[in-house]
Amino acid sequence: MAKRILVTSALPYANGSIHLGHLVEYIQTDIWVRAQKMLGHEVHYVCADDTHGTPVMLKAEQENLSPEQLIEHVHEEHSRDFYDFGIRFDNYYTTNSPENQQLCEEIFGSLSDAGLIDEKEVEQFYDPIKQMFLPDRYVKGTCPKCQTPDQYGDSCEACGATYSPTDLIEPYSTVSGAKPDRKTSTHLFFKLSDARCEHFLREFTQNTDRLQPEAANKMKEWLGEAGETKLSDWDISRDAPYFGFPIPGTNETKFFYVWLDAPVGYFGSFLNYLTNHQSLDTTKHTQDFLRKGGETELIHFIGKDILYFHALFWPAMLEFSKFRTPTKIFAHGFLTVNGQKMSKSRGTFITARSFLESDLEPEWLRYYYAAKLNDSMEDIDLNLSDFMTRVNSDLVGKYINIASRSANFLAKKFDGKLTDLSLTDNEVMCCFFERSETIADAFEARQYSRGIREIMALADRANSYIDTQKPWELAKSASHTDIEKLHEVCSIAINLFKILTVYLKPVLPTLAAGVEGFLSLTSLKWSDSKKCLPRGHVIKSYKHLMGRVDQKLIDKLITLNSQESIEPKTHSSEPNTKKMTVKKNTVENASDITIDTFNKIDLRVGKIIEAKNVEGADKLARLKIDLGDEQRQVFAGIKSAYNPEDLEGKLVVVVANLKARKMRFGESQGMVLAASNEESGIFLISPDSGAVPGMQVK
Ligand SMILES: [Zn+2]
Repeated sequence: MAKRILVTSALPYANGSIHLGHLVEYIQTDIWVRAQKMLGHEVHYVCADDTHGTPVMLKAEQENLSPEQLIEHVHEEHSRDFYDFGIRFDNYYTTNSPENQQLCEEIFGSLSDAGLIDEKEVEQFYDPIKQMFLPDRYVKGTCPKCQTPDQYGDSCEACGATYSPTDLIEPYSTVSGAKPDRKTSTHLFFKLSDARCEHFLREFTQNTDRLQPEAANKMKEWLGEAGETKLSDWDISRDAPYFGFPIPGTNETKFFYVWLDAPVGYFGSFLNYLTNHQSLDTTKHTQDFLRKGGETELIHFIGKDILYFHALFWPAMLEFSKFRTPTKIFAHGFLTVNGQKMSKSRGTFITARSFLESDLEPEWLRYYYAAKLNDSMEDIDLNLSDFMTRVNSDLVGKYINIASRSANFLAKKFDGKLTDLSLTDNEVMCCFFERSETIADAFEARQYSRGIREIMALADRANSYIDTQKPWELAKSASHTDIEKLHEVCSIAINLFKILTVYLKPVLPTLAAGVEGFLSLTSLKWSDSKKCLPRGHVIKSYKHLMGRVDQKLIDKLITLNSQESIEPKTHSSEPNTKKMTVKKNTVENASDITIDTFNKIDLRVGKIIEAKNVEGADKLARLKIDLGDEQRQVFAGIKSAYNPEDLEGKLVVVVANLKARKMRFGESQGMVLAASNEESGIFLISPDSGAVPGMQVK
């Protein structure tokens, strides 16, 4: 029976370019949608740009644009990138739309009526110059643990420590540079701690048909044991100035937090799609797909980092506001390139556009991702040399080869006409038919790598069939029987090629369209994998269908991305970093280094010859340190543990080759080593007596 499914991919944020990491998800979803459509299901695939929030507002200001102008440019760019990678949304819209605003207001109204909205006072950093509240990520300062300057408000990139923004030494606003104040404001909260929400979410998240087992486990962790829920109420409001939808009844002083309106944007996009397609009955489809009680499915594809929003906040919002809840949430892992996190310095932070500009075929990437993707939340790796080998050997060496080996004989000897085949009598052909359900199941279950393995095993069989039958020898024969045999072998090979094309079509739609042209067929459906081409069917003469990946193209790609200055990666919206941050264990975090790496650190004994308070920096001391042949100025965040006057004359260990950093009150030319933990404070490391300034520490 045909299913009726509304499918979404996560909304890309409207302040940066699409990169290969994003494409994992869109390609994964697009393949899934194409396969379901080929199988005859009613599928609607919608998405939109995620446009609201502080980052967009500030970026627009930086570029001298209105937020509306910025998001329009980004919308064009994103749409083009997706289109060029073969991703075919039924609708690609924006969250800054009247449909979305109306839906948000309706949901908010329902939650209020249900008694699930609360008001609380919140104290936050406030930028006195910009006159705005600052999200945590717009506050930076010196790490309270390791004294590395310029760290974000929630965690230190240098030592991995996590802390609250109020713990930062010398906090400053990254927007204006001003020292932020603490200021209180009234915020609106969605009462997730309410017993009704807890009850609903326990039931919702423990259904493993809905969430992957690893996701369901994660949810269990987040929810805690029954009766001792760990869920806290969710702050859904932000103060003006904010680019977003004003919250009704607040006189435009409060706006919906971007993470409230972003998922609602899925529905907004669907409503817009219905309006633009008069063949669809708007009222009926809205009822069937968006409201409770319809016999339809709602499926979200997302990255594992936004599971929290999609499996907790979003379904709870829907459940208590007369909307339907998601049927399934499919989370995937992240992309690594050559086994490592994408990196600008290695040239592996690859934008979608640069991939196209390197003359690499988008379908090569679609194929490679498909060959790697499964239904788990594991990360997938794009290994560029494996990418080249795999595409060349599978697609060109195995699949395309079948057509090029048989089509020319048909053209030359038989006017391109196929012979009559009773295909069920042919063993290879039977085997190709029989895999139809298994491969369809692999696509449905998102086990694409298994599907691709099945398909390539069939391609191997087709090639070995041709190898055994040796059409090139039959073609030299003068015997009528041999020529008839040649006709049969080539006709079978072309049929096998056609069936493989059906199986690969969700992954390689452009190539499949080329094959349809070559075989004089119109749009292949899944059911065509069980049919053979009729006697006398005429195919065109073989033309080049797909080329090989060349190392030069990959080199070009790396060069392009090494030169390009690319926007900093901002995944989706302002992430609720406090909740999403994984607590890092520093021991687990430290990877082995060689002695050579250690020797790169120039550690010296230093003597503090002067120590002073720093005006305007409560936690810092300004140290003058004698290193034997020179003196250095170092700012150290040790004032919570030491009085400056007690430090003079003390021997310390200094990182002497740490790059000097300009701070607002002067340059810091090194770092003093100290031991610390949360409970006991800070302890300077001192050499035993007898050591003299300038000595090397090894
Ligand atoms: Zn640190």
